[in-house]
Amino acid sequence: MRHRVIALPLTVVALLVALLGLLAGGSQASGSTASVLLCGLLSASQLAWHGRRLRMSRLLLWPALGWLVLSLLSYLLPEHWVAHASWNRWATHLMPGSYIDDWRPPLLVMLCLTLLGLVLLVRTRANLGAPLLLGVAALSLVGQAIEQVHDHDLLPLTANGPVFVAQACLLLGQSVDILGGWRASRGSIQRALWPSLLLALLTLALWHHQREADELRLRADIEAQGQRLAGRLSSEINAHLAAMRRFTASWSWRDSPPTATQWAHQAELYHHDFRYFLNIAFITPDSRILRVHPGSRINNELLDTRLFDAQPEGREALGRALHDGRVGRTGIISLLQEQPGLIHYLPVIQDDSGRILGAVGVVVGLQAMADTLFRQVGPETTALSLLDGERLLAYQGPAERQGPWRHAAMLDLSGLPLTLVTRPGRDTLLAHRSRLPGITLTAGLSLAYLLYLSLFARHRMLVQHRQVRRSNRELRREVRSRTQLQREIEWLADHDDLTRLPNRRRFMQVLAEHAETRPLSVLLCDVDHFKLINDRHGHLTGDRYLAELGRLGQGVIETAGGVFARFGGEEFVACLPGQDADGAAAVAERLRLALTESGLRHRDGAPLTLSVGVATLETGSLVADDLLQDADEALYRAKSRGRDRVERASPRPGLSTGGV
Ligand code: GH3
Ligand code: MG
Ligand code: MG
Repeated sequence: MRHRVIALPLTVVALLVALLGLLAGGSQASGSTASVLLCGLLSASQLAWHGRRLRMSRLLLWPALGWLVLSLLSYLLPEHWVAHASWNRWATHLMPGSYIDDWRPPLLVMLCLTLLGLVLLVRTRANLGAPLLLGVAALSLVGQAIEQVHDHDLLPLTANGPVFVAQACLLLGQSVDILGGWRASRGSIQRALWPSLLLALLTLALWHHQREADELRLRADIEAQGQRLAGRLSSEINAHLAAMRRFTASWSWRDSPPTATQWAHQAELYHHDFRYFLNIAFITPDSRILRVHPGSRINNELLDTRLFDAQPEGREALGRALHDGRVGRTGIISLLQEQPGLIHYLPVIQDDSGRILGAVGVVVGLQAMADTLFRQVGPETTALSLLDGERLLAYQGPAERQGPWRHAAMLDLSGLPLTLVTRPGRDTLLAHRSRLPGITLTAGLSLAYLLYLSLFARHRMLVQHRQVRRSNRELRREVRSRTQLQREIEWLADHDDLTRLPNRRRFMQVLAEHAETRPLSVLLCDVDHFKLINDRHGHLTGDRYLAELGRLGQGVIETAGGVFARFGGEEFVACLPGQDADGAAAVAERLRLALTESGLRHRDGAPLTLSVGVATLETGSLVADDLLQDADEALYRAKSRGRDRVERASPRPGLSTGGV
């Protein structure tokens, strides 16, 4: 919520800036109208998204994304799939007088807006790549800022200021709204983001490099085209000079000047080939124009005029032909036909006598020459200018949508240096540009996106595996401790904790297990005057004595093949399967002696002693309580007869017993 308080105003600013950009005439720069309109659509969609009106957000987003995808295709599709001219035709259908450039945003703007749109589409989910989309959008904004300085003429990369500000606000708005929600998956995002962002950066660098290389190639193409055109023009000019000389030579074998019919007939042949010969005249040695072709009004007015008077600028060149017998040429002058041109004067020298019969004057109209030659050599989409220094002599080509680059080539018009400037049309260049950089950019960024997705998923899986392993370990530990506890409980059910001997319950089971064993003896033992131990040594020592007795008793009884158990308090019991009354009494005696010699003593130094009652079942069936009762009675007898002794139980019917 706190983040939305900041994000919402940022998006509102983006929307306002886009509207202002539209009102301020975003159409001036190529693609700017498209950019501000798209910014507006995305801002509105983002506003709906901040307000969690997702349906509305999608409704505004899809048209914007569709527009952007079409723009992207116009940059990427090869010329032979969809020609640049076709894109322009469709643009004109949509709005007369518009071009595809007006409908698509500049490349980096398009990239940034597409990414921002995609973030709205994936609804900020980190596992669908929203962090990378935002990161690359930021990179494209940085790219636009750099490109503001670095101007590229052919394909604009950035739009005007409002579009830049709107994009920045949209990006910031999205980032602020989202960032707080990514805290939980920060580790996975970091693992996935940096490598894929690096790949995106490398892609952008490669794209930039390819783009520069393509521009250089286009420039080189134009230069080659210019040189080719200049070469063809030069050879045309040489051809017309050679023709003029041939024409002049054709009169040199004659004695008299040509008749009007002869002149009209011969001159027409040359005029037909070189339409830009505005005037082919025969001039007498006294500089009078005797014949002129074609018979236009201006040309006929010249007949019989003295050229020295009529064309003062050509006086020197004409004098050279008539007096020196050499070819004379004026510089570029304004002709009577109201266009720049030049006049060649070629002397007609009689072959036999070497007498100068007159001169052939050929007026070359430069505008007409350029028109004719340009039509022959130049493509319509390329602008051609013929210049004498700074002065424009002739121009052919479209008045608008000229390309950014021109090439100047030098021409030699019979010793007169002219410049031919070639400038291909913008659409020609756009059609010829390579689609490779755009394809590299799209493919590289898609690859970066896939890299992000796979790294993110991989890290998430690792984290989940780790969690599963940890909970498995905990589960195993829990199972172990429960098993241990279970074992202890089971052990405690059968044993006495202090002496670690089987308890009374277990003893009764053992006895039952030997129900069929004969003879079967039991010993019931009671420590003599044990109370005194507790009273004089304390209970802890009493406990220690009992534990020690348990250990001793177990040693003695187990050696005799029996089981020693604690019966309760300071009373112990032993089961001796297979021992008859004598054997059992002997074992009891060994036990009694073992305690006496154990070193466990009363306060007064007297040894701790034991009274034992022995009962044996020789034959018959076992009744455990009866057997124990007999042993107890024998024990009682031992106590009453002075303690520290073993007594056998009195015989019962079916039982055989005996005393020591
Ligand atoms: P006697 O059997 O020779 O007649 O004399 P006594 O002192 O042993 O007699 P009695 O059976 O009355 O006393 C048994 C005493 O054993 C009483 C009780 O305090 C003590 N006792 C029983 N169980 C434990 C035990 O687990 N630990 C300790 N320290 N003393 C125990
Ligand atoms: Mg007792
Ligand atoms: Mg006792």
